[in-house]
Amino acid sequence: MATIFTQIINGKIPCYKIAENSTHIAFLDINPIAKGHTLVVPKKEIDYLFDLPEPLLSDTIIFAKKITEAIDRALHPIRTGVIVEGLEVPHAHIHLVPIYKESQNLALGNPIDVSEDEMTKIGKQIAAEVSL
Ligand code: 5GP
Repeated sequence: MATIFTQIINGKIPCYKIAENSTHIAFLDINPIAKGHTLVVPKKEIDYLFDLPEPLLSDTIIFAKKITEAIDRALHPIRTGVIVEGLEVPHAHIHLVPIYKESQNLALGNPIDVSEDEMTKIGKQIAAEVSL
């Protein structure tokens, strides 16, 4: 069965999309640990990030860099943190987590409350700053 991320990529499940090209997609994490928490996902369905063929791994990092630059321009965090865990969804992905204060809790699985309206607004703010 296709992973939840493949279902998002194929438009079967909605998402707050930030950007997409032929090989990658970025969208807001549905359980954000900070405002603007974004997932970068290669469209090829491979579980473990470091099992990606090296050219695709490089492209994933470069795509993540461009999304991070957009997050930083849109939301002005101190910086954007990068987390790779992959324990929940077996489809390689990178978490980009804007850090607004040094004491911020960066543990995944402790979502903050963000309304649907705010998710939509934040998604649009970041998307407007993306330059792929
Ligand atoms: P990990 O696999 O790295 O532990 O975490 C997977 C992440 O995917 C979690 O932060 C979770 O909130 C997010 N996630 C799981 N299902 C969905 C979904 O249907 N939509 C979105 N946007 N994020 C999801």
